[in-house]
Amino acid sequence: MLNKKSVDDINVKGKRVLVRCDFNVPLQEGRITDENRLVAALPTIKKLVNDGGKVILCSHLGKPKGEPKPELSLAPVAIRLAELLGQPVNFAADATVVGDNAKAAVAAMNEGDIVLLENTRYRAEETKNIDTFSEDLASLCDVFVNDAFGTAHRAHCSNVGITKYVDTAVVGYLMQKEIEFLGNAVNNPKRPFVAILGGSKVSGKISVINNLLDKVDTLIIGGGMAYTFMKSLGEEVGLSLLEADYLDYAREMMEKAEKKGVKLLIPIDTVVSKEYSNDAEYKTVNRGEIEPEWEGLDIGEKTRELYADAIKDAKTVVWNGPMGVFEMSNFAKGTIAVAKALAEIDATTIIGGGDSAAAVNILGYGDKMTHISTGGGASLEFLEGKELPGVAAANDK
Ligand code: AMP
Repeated sequence: MLNKKSVDDINVKGKRVLVRCDFNVPLQEGRITDENRLVAALPTIKKLVNDGGKVILCSHLGKPKGEPKPELSLAPVAIRLAELLGQPVNFAADATVVGDNAKAAVAAMNEGDIVLLENTRYRAEETKNIDTFSEDLASLCDVFVNDAFGTAHRAHCSNVGITKYVDTAVVGYLMQKEIEFLGNAVNNPKRPFVAILGGSKVSGKISVINNLLDKVDTLIIGGGMAYTFMKSLGEEVGLSLLEADYLDYAREMMEKAEKKGVKLLIPIDTVVSKEYSNDAEYKTVNRGEIEPEWEGLDIGEKTRELYADAIKDAKTVVWNGPMGVFEMSNFAKGTIAVAKALAEIDATTIIGGGDSAAAVNILGYGDKMTHISTGGGASLEFLEGKELPGVAAANDK
């Protein structure tokens, strides 16, 4: 259980409540193309509205790098949120986020009203966690709620700095749910417990591999990172992604797995291509048979079967990172096969945000999973066993 106070532990009636949400949604020409993060924020917002709070929402969106960028304004989010909530969301357009518009909007609020502030990253202090912006944000509210799991692994003004200046700082329902699902899966799993790691690089997932080897029964490796493992066994990988600095590390991890009795699986065949392109010639070859001019871009058919088989009896599965370059249809089959295998089993299935979450949703398997995290980076750091600063900053129970 999460040992932090939540929105259930406070009384917000008549109070100004600043809620840090994760409204960092993909936008195309001002249109929101995936609103999962907005939907995930609704339970906390509704609870605070129903309890009579004056609900002030804030979030970052993209990387405006400390200055106003109209294309990264949260204005479209205000419109869509109002539709989803069925009540007005007053957008406080302010280049400085906490400027005259925001102050006036908050001063005019009644119980149950909602105001949305402008993109917190319009302010240069935000990502540097500099007090001036934390104080500005704190001046707008009596109570702070952090419900932004997607940024919980960062210490910024709007999720950590502000807690220095507000006595009551609690977590919201989304944050609670994310931590409970990920925490239970990793620390109290029903076994067999299988973790699947993919994506481009070993270097981004070093601590995750190390930490998970202490917990899982089987660790499945796919994606670009698999080639560093193959190479460390002396096998040829052609032009595939390779991190030469991590060969020793890969070897150590394989030794650790063996000592611990953890089954560590790497691909037994690979889809290779002449170029990093969906139009290039491609074929499947066995492990160890990648020729010099070819590049591995997906797991092969035999590996798809091997991995589906390794997943089939699992009771807990955590997945982070695609099995290949799933953005190109010729190299998406491995990722599709894993998503399908997870959808078909009777187990707790946790998808760790980012690309794997996108893949599962695009393929229409979203509702077959136990939990799809809204935070790729945050869930990875959680899997590393790290304390997330955004969670640590909330009041203890
Ligand atoms: P990451 O951000 O490290 O989780 O990596 C995600 C990216 O890894 C996706 O954009 C994939 O296209 C890419 N990826 C997966 N497998 C491979 C591969 N075999 N070669 C190159 N890139 C890959």
